Amino acid sequence: MAGVLHDTGDVADPRTARAAVSTGRLPTAEAVRATLEGVHRRFRDDRGGKVADYIPVLAEADPELFGIAVAYVSGGVHAAGDADHMFSIQSVSKPFVFALVNDALGRETVRRRIGVNSTGLPFNSVLAVELNHGSPMNPMVNAGALATTALVPGASPQERWDFIRRGLSRFAGRDLLVDDRVYTSEAATNQRNESIARLLDSYGALAGDPMATTDLYTRQCSLTVSARDLAAMGATLANGGVCPLTGEQVVAAGVCRDTLSALATAGLYERSGDWLYEVGMPGKSGVSGGIITVAPGKGSLAVFSPRLDEAGNSVRGQRVAHFLSGALGMDLFASTPHTEATA
Ligand code: GLU
Repeated sequence: MAGVLHDTGDVADPRTARAAVSTGRLPTAEAVRATLEGVHRRFRDDRGGKVADYIPVLAEADPELFGIAVAYVSGGVHAAGDADHMFSIQSVSKPFVFALVNDALGRETVRRRIGVNSTGLPFNSVLAVELNHGSPMNPMVNAGALATTALVPGASPQERWDFIRRGLSRFAGRDLLVDDRVYTSEAATNQRNESIARLLDSYGALAGDPMATTDLYTRQCSLTVSARDLAAMGATLANGGVCPLTGEQVVAAGVCRDTLSALATAGLYERSGDWLYEVGMPGKSGVSGGIITVAPGKGSLAVFSPRLDEAGNSVRGQRVAHFLSGALGMDLFASTPHTEATA
């Protein structure tokens, strides 16, 4: 469904929409605020896609909810619409757990155990594991995320859970809590993730017990965030690992760079190529409708809108990110010819 990003009108035309290039900073606070209001109005009536229903409680989400937030590396956050509405983080947790594990264990260990290549297959594919002889392939699909969560350090389940919850909270700059209804609903319908964990285990590719690992992963997916929180978390990745809201160094700068490159490969699952081509920034989506995208050195954009495409990515979230990457000059690949004036 490349079409999700092809029918946003004039923004798809690089000659008109890509005037702002990737160098420098985000526009001023006033310009960002005005742009966000305008973009919220522009996409308010976009009803493309369908709310996820394979986790029963997610089907109850109000499909009209729509929030946008932009966080600067300098600490400012601007928001429009339902940017404070809380929802479960789902797969947007994956890059942050990956970053924490990478920081704790070292990049070579994690690289060897997980990998960084895309699968070209859906996020919860069992076939991908079989086709790749038991390799989880990358930390953004479920197999790789389960294998990453299995590497979380700690002597007990409680210590491992604390590592994840506290770690993600440090990225957000505030304490994050679990939505128990989401956790219970997902835990009761988690047979596919349990199967993936068991399959990885059969290949010797899972560092922990399959059931305990799936449970920890399910808890991690059930942490609740707002679009504003996600923007702050993304801005920590954009800011060399220092949370712009608290000034705390959460992970090393090199870990952020590794995490963002893994997102570029696989953050939007089998649509990652379309995403990078159109949006020009590493991004990550989750089935509850959250989506983040990160411009290193500048900041992060987060959108929450629960209707998804067939790959499980927020439709309106992708379109808004596409529009704003051009409008705010966040696209990493955009440039203009050198002139004396820009020297
Ligand atoms: N908890 C979800 C699952 O594992 C996350 C999937 C997603 O957000 O893409 O099925």
